[in-house]
Amino acid sequence: MLEVKPDIDFKRELSRMSGSQLNQCMQCGNCSAVCSLAPAERPFPRKEMVWAGWGLKEKLIGNVDVWLCHQCGDCSSYCPRDVKPADVIAAVRQQSYMHYARPRFLGKLVNKPAWLPVAILIPVLVIISILSVAGTFKIPEGPVDYSAFFPHAWLNSTFSAITLIFYLLASWGIGSFWNDMKRQTPPSGDKKGSRRPAFQVLGEILSHSNFSGCGSQRPRQVAHMLVFFGFGLLILVTIYAIWATITHNYPLKFSNPFKIAGNVASLMIFTGLGIMIFQRLFNRSIFGKSGYSDWLLLTSIALLTLSGTLVELARFGNWSSAYHLYFFHLVAVWFVIMYLPFTKLGHVLYRTTALVYARSIGRK
Ligand code: SF4
Ligand code: SF4
Repeated sequence: MLEVKPDIDFKRELSRMSGSQLNQCMQCGNCSAVCSLAPAERPFPRKEMVWAGWGLKEKLIGNVDVWLCHQCGDCSSYCPRDVKPADVIAAVRQQSYMHYARPRFLGKLVNKPAWLPVAILIPVLVIISILSVAGTFKIPEGPVDYSAFFPHAWLNSTFSAITLIFYLLASWGIGSFWNDMKRQTPPSGDKKGSRRPAFQVLGEILSHSNFSGCGSQRPRQVAHMLVFFGFGLLILVTIYAIWATITHNYPLKFSNPFKIAGNVASLMIFTGLGIMIFQRLFNRSIFGKSGYSDWLLLTSIALLTLSGTLVELARFGNWSSAYHLYFFHLVAVWFVIMYLPFTKLGHVLYRTTALVYARSIGRK
C-alpha cells in the first residue's frame, strides 16, 4: 500500500517562496509537454507539481529531475492556471540547500534574511581577529601598501583552512543528496548510462548546451556563460595572486597579464550580471518571482567584483579609503566563496552532482 506523508509546512514554504497557488494546478501536463529538457520517460515538471500540491517533501528533496531543470521559464509561460511551475521547482532547489547543509545552521544563516547581519558579522570578526593577532591593525601612513595592513600569509592560510572545512562539510551533505537520488530514482536494468558521466557533464557545463535547449531564454545562456567563465578566470587570477604574495612579487603591475586577465574577467561578470538583473526586473512574465536568495547571490557577486575593481583603483590612486575597501572586499570574498555550498551558488555543486547521477543511469 502506498503511504502518503504530506508536509504542510513544506508546502506552505514552497508556496511562499514561489508565489504560486499550488492548489490551482489542474495537472493538465502542458508544463511537461513544453519543457525541452524533460526526458520522454517520466517527464517533469508536472509530476513535481502534483507532489508539491500534496506537500510530499520526501519525493521532491533528492529528486534528480529538479536539478535537470535550468529555469528557462517556458513551462510557466504555457501554464493555463498561472501556477508558475518554474518558480516552484526553483523553490524546491532552494529548500534543498538548507536541507543538505551541514551543519544545518549554516544553511539557515545564509538563506534567511533575519540572519544576514550574523552572516556578515562572522567574517568581519574573523578578519579583525587576524589583524589584531598579527599586530597590523593600524592604517599605515604613506602610499597605499595593502600588505602593511593586511597580513597576507595569515589571511590566505586562515581563509583557505575555513574554505576547506566548509567544503568538507558540504561534501557530507552532497553524499546524502547522492544517496537520496539513488533511492528515489534507482538505475533501471534496461537503460545504459554513460560510461564516463563526469566527462559528459563537464562538456555540457562548458558548452552550456542545456541552456540552449530552452526556447524563450537565450539571453540567459549568454549571461550565464559570461559570469561562469568570468568567475573561473577570476579564480585563476586569485590563485596566481596568492602565489605572487608567497614569492614576494605582489602587488602585480597594471601591465601584468594576470592583472589584465582579472580586469577582463570583471568586465565579463559585470556584463553577465547586468543582463541577469535586467531580465529579473523587466522580464518577470517569463523569469517569475525573484526571491531573497536570487538577489543575495547577484548582489554578493556584484559587490565582490566591484570592490575588487575599486581596491585596484584605490592602490593606483592612493585613495584614503583604500584599506576600508580592501576590508569590504575580503568580507565579500568570504560571502561568495566560503558560503558557496550553502547559498544559491551551491547549484554549482548540486546541479553537477545531479547531472552526473542522471547521466550515469542513462537519464537524458
Ligand atoms: S503547473 Fe500548470 S501547466 Fe503544469 S500541470 Fe499544473 S496547471 Fe498544467
Ligand atoms: S523552467 Fe524550463 S527547464 Fe525547467 S521545467 Fe520549466 S520548461 Fe523545463
